Amino acid sequence: MNPASGVNNFMAGNYHDLTDMPFYVGRFAIDSTRIANRWIRLAWYPAASLTPTRRDRAFGWLQKLVPAQVAVFGEAPFRNYTIFQRSDTLVNGGGLEHQSSQVDEVLTSQLDANTSSLYSHEFFHAWNVKRLRPADLVPYRYDDAQPTTWLWVSEGITDYYGALALARGGVEDSTAFFNFIANEISSVASAPPTSVSDASLNSWINPTDGSGGLYYPKGGLTGFLLDVLIRDASDNRATLDDVMRRLYYATYKRGKGFTAADWWGEVSYAARGKSFTDFARRYVDGREPLPVESVLPLAGLRFEGDTIREPRLGIGTASDSSGVRISQVGSTSAAAAAGARVGDQIVSIGDVMITNDDSFEKFRTRYAGTNVTTLPLIVRRGSDSLTLQLPVRLSTRVRTRVVPLPNAPAKASRIRHGILTGSPTGPNPAR
Ligand SMILES: [Zn+2]
Repeated sequence: MNPASGVNNFMAGNYHDLTDMPFYVGRFAIDSTRIANRWIRLAWYPAASLTPTRRDRAFGWLQKLVPAQVAVFGEAPFRNYTIFQRSDTLVNGGGLEHQSSQVDEVLTSQLDANTSSLYSHEFFHAWNVKRLRPADLVPYRYDDAQPTTWLWVSEGITDYYGALALARGGVEDSTAFFNFIANEISSVASAPPTSVSDASLNSWINPTDGSGGLYYPKGGLTGFLLDVLIRDASDNRATLDDVMRRLYYATYKRGKGFTAADWWGEVSYAARGKSFTDFARRYVDGREPLPVESVLPLAGLRFEGDTIREPRLGIGTASDSSGVRISQVGSTSAAAAAGARVGDQIVSIGDVMITNDDSFEKFRTRYAGTNVTTLPLIVRRGSDSLTLQLPVRLSTRVRTRVVPLPNAPAKASRIRHGILTGSPTGPNPAR
């Protein structure tokens, strides 16, 4: 909020801004740094959670991802920006966007995990949805629901740019970005066929058929495919960045939300006049499977699915700073056959130490396809340390990957490079 005259007085210009500015009372640890000509502030609770190491890591991510996002729109639209972070052992995890801040909830056990994708997603919302938003959400109403078929842009494309900013800024390498796309492909493939426009209405409908949050992965994947198609049609001279930036100036800056005509008009303009009527009808408003396999090669990429056999324990877990405890044991599971019980703290499986939730991925990778029939499962039960004999049960999983084509044509290589680096950068948007 903007400071007003007097001590500790702040002013919001209207009711919407007032309700959008979270405030907390308590002992927060506060630190700030200068990025992209703005003060970027951390405000963490409890204060002891902001150790110098975590502060440096968080600022390190922000130094990289913030400029990558500012470059998309050509301006940072806030006076300063605050990352409120609350951690304890009970929070659900996740974040909420505001126009000049984000509020994140992080489990205590995850304080040293990589939260850069959470920060990046919420940060991109400072433009996409807090300012650039569908006409259905302009003006915001506080007395009624405002369903929109555009959450696939507001959330899904925010997810896409959240991941892109990490790659463009150098927080993560290109493999991590390709894995992000691969995960979106598998999430979409495992959901019931639902148009991404209909899926956007789901947050008001709460369906139980598995399509609930589909506007995130399917929206992100649709945004990626549009980016590739725009770059392909313009010989990599125009990009989805241009669509986002031009819409931002043409609608938000003129006090409006965007309509379907605005959105598809800018997509088509960026793609040098190519019509997207058919794309919208089939893949956005319709439920035809997205043309992933035909579009990926245009960016020098290929989709691979391989079937792997990996061990499964059949348990649910709860983690905190003391370690990983079993919260559920499937009655016919390998863990049940070994004699594991709810409440046991898992120390190691075979030669893999179990220290947090990520350890299970290491365990599955280590013993994928193994011929070993049993493994020692070491648990702590009360004050005892027990070595149980875990029968190894392999189950089948289809692992999806997106990989660069080694001999991609020059144009496709340029497009792939352009997506990962954010080039070409757009024209100066002032006009
Ligand atoms: Zn979001």
